[in-house]
Amino acid sequence: MYRVNEIFYTLQGEGAHSGIPAVFVRFSGCNLRCPWCDTDFADHTDMTAEQIVAEAQALYDIPNERRKMLVLTGGEPGLQVDKPLLDALHAAGFYICIETNGTRPLPEGIDWITCSPKVERLDTRLSHSGEVPTKLALKRVNEVKVVYTGEYDPEIWREQLQAEHWLLQPLRFTGEWLMQSGIDEWQDDRNDNLDDTVRYILTHPFWRLSVQLHKIVGLR
Ligand code: SF4
Repeated sequence: MYRVNEIFYTLQGEGAHSGIPAVFVRFSGCNLRCPWCDTDFADHTDMTAEQIVAEAQALYDIPNERRKMLVLTGGEPGLQVDKPLLDALHAAGFYICIETNGTRPLPEGIDWITCSPKVERLDTRLSHSGEVPTKLALKRVNEVKVVYTGEYDPEIWREQLQAEHWLLQPLRFTGEWLMQSGIDEWQDDRNDNLDDTVRYILTHPFWRLSVQLHKIVGLR
């Protein structure tokens, strides 16, 4: 049984596959607690691999489509994804992507790995308490997607990971983030740090901007 939070069909909104239709399977639970996390992954339904495949097929019901994309996400999908689930999804014709924080080893056979590595604060109550990179279990992935917080240099991940695509994503300020940062109210019109992220990329052109396309166009 797998603990599944939700399964839905939409457009991939982030990274190199932006704009491509995909079934998203969101697993419940995560081993990290990032202050800006706005993903609701607490609820879950227990499902077998066969039930997951059946629901994904019912949602992505396009006859003769040869490369149906399916994204395993979370939470942290690396806590639950295993070979039997991958085999069942491949047998049903899905091209399997995963979005992981990189702290868990993954089974062989995933077609596309997106790693979003995170840092941990030495004191989780304070934003400027010193950040240390989480220990990664992965070394080689397809893309690295980092949320640019402005509090540490994303270049640290280039020493630890190999990838074809390096993406930097603006940070969206949530209530909890503002509270932990000691800021009462964000002064800008916007609720993200897009300008700072763009400035960073202009001086570190190895990186590419990744925006959350699905939020801009109003998809889930
Ligand atoms: S790793 Fe991802 S899902 Fe887990 S707490 Fe951080 S942002 Fe949320």
